[in-house]
Amino acid sequence: MTIVLGAIADDFTGATDLANNLVRGGMRCVQVIGVPETLPPLDDVDAVVVALKSRSCPASEAVNDSLKALDWLQGLGARQIFFKYCSTFDSTDKGNIGPVADALLERLNATQTVMVPAFPINGRTVYQGHLFVGDRLLNDSGMQHHPLTPMTDADLVRVLARQTPHGVGLVSRAVLAKGADVARQRLDTLREEGVRHVICDSVDDEDLKTLASATVELALVTGGSGLGQALPAQYREKGWLEVIREPGRLAPACGSALVLSGSCSRATLAQVDDFLTRHPTGGFALDPQALARDETHWNEALAFARARIEYGEPVLVYASADPEKVKAAQARLGVEKAGHLVEDALSQLAVALVDQGVGRLLVAGGETSGAVVSALGITALRIGEQIDPGVPWTQTQRKGALLSLALKSGNFGGVDFFTRAFEVLP
Ligand code: ADP
Repeated sequence: MTIVLGAIADDFTGATDLANNLVRGGMRCVQVIGVPETLPPLDDVDAVVVALKSRSCPASEAVNDSLKALDWLQGLGARQIFFKYCSTFDSTDKGNIGPVADALLERLNATQTVMVPAFPINGRTVYQGHLFVGDRLLNDSGMQHHPLTPMTDADLVRVLARQTPHGVGLVSRAVLAKGADVARQRLDTLREEGVRHVICDSVDDEDLKTLASATVELALVTGGSGLGQALPAQYREKGWLEVIREPGRLAPACGSALVLSGSCSRATLAQVDDFLTRHPTGGFALDPQALARDETHWNEALAFARARIEYGEPVLVYASADPEKVKAAQARLGVEKAGHLVEDALSQLAVALVDQGVGRLLVAGGETSGAVVSALGITALRIGEQIDPGVPWTQTQRKGALLSLALKSGNFGGVDFFTRAFEVLP
């Protein structure tokens, strides 16, 4: 078994986002959570995405974890390596994009890579090396206030130059407009000048296609998930990848359905409301302060979910609440404690209910999803078709049974997501 593409993603939902786009591009894809100790089933798999937590940790840790993932992916025979980070280039002057890219290049014995964060469909574009979110420059997009990786400079050549001792260059839109051959020549010229990192403009999918064609032979490419959707067509052109009829095909799902929500993002709140309108008695609201008191509240939630599941009725357990309620809980318990109480309660519900026959599980919230997946002891997910942009169904084996999982981070998904997701699951 050899795979075509091995990807290293700096966070969990970013990994899923890339995996989803690879499937849409025509690759059969598995996402693993960290480097697995035992090899997951990888028959009929064209791409493997390793999800790390390396976006905001110290650079040395990010480098070590990424190199470990690289070695493992090379062991699977990956022809090309993709280092995936956020389309808003989330990083600081200390890293981790520059240090990780440098370390991967060195280990691969390669002298140049490209940086392609753009995801035009989601409004992330790069022009003259400047990153835009919609019609705002990155440093005016809200990202300048990010608590961990505030982005106060939209000039990516300048941003990356602060993260690496090596040369940083640009392939501009004007070059891309002349086609893939000219783009490749430009990369060669920059390489001869000793430029190791090349920020690439891209304002639409056509630019991403051109870039995919110009970079398919590079040992390492880096960027957002937009480039991920453009690369599979190039692999087919090279004869590395067959035409796969249904790359996102999953086994028929089985078991009861359950929705758990720990996300308080606006889109999720609307999805919770929509579910409760359809099923006025189908929801159980978790209260962090009641969770903090004793186990009574959690036991009630479990009994509620069990009873609904037994009668085959849709069930949602949610801590999702409007900003005032969240602030009130945080003021009494502390931000971290409130978060952990909710994440633990939802994770333990997932474990108890999956052990009792839930086979179709939808989780809302990025952190919440991470906590649930880790409590369930899941290490590998086969990626299926997307339900809504960026959110696919996935499948895994747990204790010998098939488990279908949809993991939705905050603002993803249409208003009827909690209902429609189960309708599109085979
Ligand atoms: P999103 O993807 O929408 O950001 P996350 O799951 O990543 O969602 O983050 C939401 C955080 O808020 C989690 O840590 C969760 O435990 C916490 N949380 C959820 N509901 C409440 C609540 N009612 N009060 C306080 N914190 C909450």
